[in-house]
Amino acid sequence: MVVISLCNGVHSSRQIPSLIHNLWRNSSKIRPLATTPTLLPLNLPRRLCSVHAKSDEEAAAKVAAAYADSGGPTIFDKIISKEIPSTIIYEDEKVLAFRDINPQAPVHVLVIPKLRDGLTQLGKAEPRHEDILGHLFYAAKIVAEKEGILDGFRVVINNGPTACQSVYHLHLHVLGGRQLKWPPG
Ligand code: 5GP
Repeated sequence: MVVISLCNGVHSSRQIPSLIHNLWRNSSKIRPLATTPTLLPLNLPRRLCSVHAKSDEEAAAKVAAAYADSGGPTIFDKIISKEIPSTIIYEDEKVLAFRDINPQAPVHVLVIPKLRDGLTQLGKAEPRHEDILGHLFYAAKIVAEKEGILDGFRVVINNGPTACQSVYHLHLHVLGGRQLKWPPG
């Protein structure tokens, strides 16, 4: 494993996500701190530059969790604003569904609320979120229908570091298109 120090040439913590994206997109041999390019929150402070995290999901999830409640933007804000391109499967005034950049099945779509409203993770849900939570699940069904997997699909929500949540903007994973195993591991 090669560890890249993110401090070199990084003048602002806000540069770190784009640096990771550039490394990811420009080389198939260079891997960021974990298997996806967006595991670090956009408001990551400079002191985390010294963290030589292992290249695994668990370490990255722990780093992300440390800043989960900071209220800072995540990569999903840039996807909602279309600043970062994504393949959109479904969209309405409240939710956006787009293909996961690192698919774990032939169909792997993320469904997110356009307004996070404190829903960094399902564990933060409050009574005011009932409507959007129902809407997200109905959107997951629409996605399954559009993708032709209504006969068998799985909806997953990773909540917190123990579940390897890496982006702190609530999202439903809609997975299908192959025989899914149980238990999930
Ligand atoms: P979590 O690990 O938090 O449950 O899931 C986050 C998901 O977001 C991961 O499956 C990851 O592949 C996906 N993801 C992270 N960054 C991006 C991105 O820039 N674009 C897309 N389409 N998916 C992303």
